[in-house]
Amino acid sequence: MAAAEPSERDFDHLRRRMVEEQLRDRGIRDERVLEAMQTVPRHRFVSGWAASAAYEDEPLAIGLSQTISQPYMVARMTELLELDPDSRVLEIGTGSGYQAAVLGELAGEIWTIERHDELARKAAELLQELGYLRVHVVAGDGTLGLAEHAPYDAIVVTAAAPRIPQALLDQLADGGRLVIPVGDRSMQRLRVVTRRGESFDEKDVLGCRFVPLVGVAGYADE
Ligand code: SAM
Repeated sequence: MAAAEPSERDFDHLRRRMVEEQLRDRGIRDERVLEAMQTVPRHRFVSGWAASAAYEDEPLAIGLSQTISQPYMVARMTELLELDPDSRVLEIGTGSGYQAAVLGELAGEIWTIERHDELARKAAELLQELGYLRVHVVAGDGTLGLAEHAPYDAIVVTAAAPRIPQALLDQLADGGRLVIPVGDRSMQRLRVVTRRGESFDEKDVLGCRFVPLVGVAGYADE
């Protein structure tokens, strides 16, 4: 007999455990971020069989060789953005739309760019269905940023960049933060760049592994 599908109650329980064991116990301290991670139904952002693994401590496949990031990485990057309810945020790499939904719980207006049209369309539909009406999905090359809505208080890049794209620095508001994994295609370091007028303070945070950022100011498509 096939195992029964987990119920919403089961998912809620798994999500609570994820927040306590994978996030709080590992040092995520911002209560608003923990609450957002408790609220967003991560299992809705992964399809079919993968839904039952949605609250595991790992990234998961979402099609087109792309992934939804590990919950800890989503929470850590979000915490580093230091969002408030009025923040204007740009995300590069919509993927499933999960990180964008977490941003939608915490910030004022969010734009998120995805280079694969199909992922962008699916994410936009789901975000709309779940009521994230202040999250706007755009299909295109995020290495160029999104000049028409700049400046942004926070920019998060959820794919590995060979170097920091100049357009993203240009589109950061004074005092704003850019969180971005920088490195080669297999290993990167997560960096936080804070804009102070025309200068940029850079901080190295931790080692990480992301799929490549592919575009004009990123890696070449393979
Ligand atoms: N934030 C996503 C989520 O919550 O599901 C996970 C993102 S996945 C690790 C990285 C995504 O970045 C992929 O969907 C990939 O197609 C996208 N990507 C790579 N290069 C890009 C670019 N230049 N512009 C926009 N999206 C890009």
